[in-house]
Amino acid sequence: MPTPNDLRDPPLATRDPEIARLIREEEVRETVKLRLIPSENYASRAVLEATGSVLTNKYSEGYAGKRYYEGQQLIDQIEELACSRLKALFGAEHVNVQPYSGSPANLAVYLAFCKPHDPVMGLGLPAGGHLTHGWNVSITGKYFNSVAYGVSPSDHRIDFAEVRRLALEHKPKILWCGTTAYPRLLDFAKFREIADEVGAKLCADISHISGLVVGGAHPSPIGIADVVTSTTHKTLRGPRGGMIFCKSEYAKDIDRAVFPGLQGGPHNHTTAGIAVAAKEASTPEFKQYALNIVANAKVLAEGLLGHGFSLVTGGTDNHLILIDLTSKGISGKLAAKALDRAGIVCNYNSVPFDPRKPFDPSGIRIGTPSITSRGMGPTEMKKLAGWMDQVVSKADDAALIDRVAAEVSEMCSGFPPPGIPV
Ligand SMILES: *Cc1c(COP(=O)(O)O)cnc(C)c1O
Repeated sequence: MPTPNDLRDPPLATRDPEIARLIREEEVRETVKLRLIPSENYASRAVLEATGSVLTNKYSEGYAGKRYYEGQQLIDQIEELACSRLKALFGAEHVNVQPYSGSPANLAVYLAFCKPHDPVMGLGLPAGGHLTHGWNVSITGKYFNSVAYGVSPSDHRIDFAEVRRLALEHKPKILWCGTTAYPRLLDFAKFREIADEVGAKLCADISHISGLVVGGAHPSPIGIADVVTSTTHKTLRGPRGGMIFCKSEYAKDIDRAVFPGLQGGPHNHTTAGIAVAAKEASTPEFKQYALNIVANAKVLAEGLLGHGFSLVTGGTDNHLILIDLTSKGISGKLAAKALDRAGIVCNYNSVPFDPRKPFDPSGIRIGTPSITSRGMGPTEMKKLAGWMDQVVSKADDAALIDRVAAEVSEMCSGFPPPGIPV
């Protein structure tokens, strides 16, 4: 018998069976497929619970102790917990956890340090940078005089001679370092030298790699960069959100830029989820997970090289591999679509100096965070490299693709992902 409360306030499956069914099907998709998009992951059950809570009901413009609405007895404690855990985890002097996601976090940094049309510099999108580092279709490329640096034509690594030359010429207010499709470590100290030479604020955007940074699998920019931004939902495995770390001297500027400069009320349910993720990320298990992400990426890269794939920069130091499919005679888009049908989900991606157009480029981008969160290791990476070779070599062979999809699903059944009820 339903209780009276169930009748007035029924669960999702009763209230909206259509959405409930689609969520359930997404749970199945995330369980039976190998998710290789390097910016995606699995949030834990605890993170999902905090994020799906009544905290979504509360308005709390301002910061702990200085709010514009009453009733903050618990919200203040939640935001302070999130901030103190993150500061301890990253070794930072200050953090703001209110940005709605990575893009608004970056926009707040421009607002804190720049006037419209000021010069700024970032890695170009085709070289592996992010839209918000000044690319022309983004607000950050329209409202600021943005100059893109790139990677070297010879080894496809960041071209520091070019970064320095452009910085001396354009004197940017902000120098961004951070990537979305770059398989190598970032040398934050080298960027610092150039920023100091031209009086730029150095902003490191570690959205993709923040989980690697706290796990000790990638060097940290904290203490080197003036400001460090990140999403919270990629390798860090929190809910979708953004955060900004900075030195104490910039704390006021950053906080004012986020609120009231750019946003209204913070997403308190997200803040709680971030606090939980920060707690999870401070465990030895998380450190091991971060190291395993990189170890898995290296084994996968070796396997792919063994199957004749061509990798941008020849391999990887991090969680991500960029494959140039030119030598395999297939475009990135066709390969990504065939791989998805085979249960291997990735995205098509430009490679440096790509002769093809961005909507049908030469490469695909893959990464190991999600499959590492499921506990997969070297054995699975070797199988994956073999399947990828079979699928891209015979992308229109429907029987082969069905067979690979069945094998992928069978392997996945041995590695139930976090956060999804079995
Ligand atoms: C993902 C990403 C962002 C943007 O994050 P959203 O949450 O998608 O807005 C910004 N910078 C970098 C380097 C990223 O990888």
